[in-house]
Amino acid sequence: MAMQESVNQDPLIIVGGGLAGSLAALVLSRRQPDRPLLLLEAGSVFGGNHTWSFFDSDIPPGGEEWVRALEPRVWPRYQVAFPGHERMIEHRYNAVASPRLDALVRERLPRDQWRCDCMVARIEPQRVVLDSGDAISACAVIDARGPDGPMPGLELGWQKFVGIEFAAKVLDPECVTIMDASVPQIDGYRFVYTLPLAADRVLVEDTYYSDKPVLDVEQVSTRVRAAALAQGIDAPEIRRETGVLPICIGGDPDVFWPADDPVARLGIKGGFFQATTGYSFALALRTALELAQCDDFSAPALAAWSRQQFISHWQQSAYYRLLNSMIFHAAAPHERYRIFERFYRLSEPLIARFYSGDLTMFDKARILTGKPPVPIGAALRSLRYSATGLR
Ligand SMILES: Cc1cc2nc3c(=O)[nH]c(=O)nc-3n(C[C@H](O)[C@H](O)[C@H](O)COP(=O)(O)OP(=O)(O)OC[C@H]3O[C@@H](n4cnc5c(N)ncnc54)[C@H](O)[C@@H]3O)c2cc1C
Repeated sequence: MAMQESVNQDPLIIVGGGLAGSLAALVLSRRQPDRPLLLLEAGSVFGGNHTWSFFDSDIPPGGEEWVRALEPRVWPRYQVAFPGHERMIEHRYNAVASPRLDALVRERLPRDQWRCDCMVARIEPQRVVLDSGDAISACAVIDARGPDGPMPGLELGWQKFVGIEFAAKVLDPECVTIMDASVPQIDGYRFVYTLPLAADRVLVEDTYYSDKPVLDVEQVSTRVRAAALAQGIDAPEIRRETGVLPICIGGDPDVFWPADDPVARLGIKGGFFQATTGYSFALALRTALELAQCDDFSAPALAAWSRQQFISHWQQSAYYRLLNSMIFHAAAPHERYRIFERFYRLSEPLIARFYSGDLTMFDKARILTGKPPVPIGAALRSLRYSATGLR
């Protein structure tokens, strides 16, 4: 009689039904429907309370159908404004609302494959222990618990913001303003972001590229209201969101994620965010698609696979960390806007490649050549700094 290979029939457990965990579960369940799976989320909804924005060019190959399923609001163009120049860019911009991700998980995942209001107290490579004390065995566990908690080994700046959604119309519902930096520069690089979400709803955010993660929500909310009023928006408030996103300047990937860590990670927990914007929608979708191509779901294989994904992302982000080092170390906080102002004078395709992480060598040189927007001595020091102690 032929020997049967023993296959672990315990489910793959994904802890954290936020953006990355939910997308991973959705894509895996579709591509490998027979694989036992369990998505565990502490909150009462999947995806929390977010609006995730991204450019068309950020969508990874194979990701289009998932973006369609998330029913994004799409704008054909976006605008930027600085003290010295304004520009309209013909490039589609999208925003997905988290309630749609929640609905998709409930529609598409079999009912026995997800639990919300389920706080995981401890994660082990092949088991989770819930707050209730119950334990669940797994073939492997993926940690997708999001941005809370320390990020050891990383040198970080912060993109922090408060956004308020108003029940109001805007002048041009077909155009988003992703950066209006003509406002007074406070606490680093400051800009206002305006997203007309619907005919009668607009999201206005006041954003800072700051050295410190501390966010005074009430003070910044007052500034959001003033910025809205300056655009003629004087209407009831529907919703507020706040964010403090990491911007990676440098660090040691082996400290952030030791090679012998036995637990797989996805999302911000695994360092999967765009180094300069702190955004992670595109990377969450890309890693979900990659995960669904895996065939070995044993805990050691998955831990090694996810760490390798992180290491490649880290290597591909070296140039972005260098730019971040210039933003945070070379430019005086109130002068940081000059780096973005100059960047937004470059060609539209280059700007798109910057956000999608597809810069060519020529693009990289192009961004750094010309009259530097920061003092040359400080720029050189920051380049030396990022080339020596940090990887
Ligand atoms: C307000 C805001 C706006 C943002 N806007 C954008 C944007 O426009 N575009 C973009 O690309 N990025 C944006 N980001 C950045 C980033 O994409 C999001 O933070 C994204 O949600 C991160 O995905 P994630 O899955 O890693 O973490 P999260 O989406 O935060 O998911 C983590 C999940 O894990 C759950 N969890 C935590 N601990 C446990 C536990 N012990 N047991 C069970 N569950 C647990 C949490 O409840 C949460 O649902 C934004 C972030 C914020 C905060």
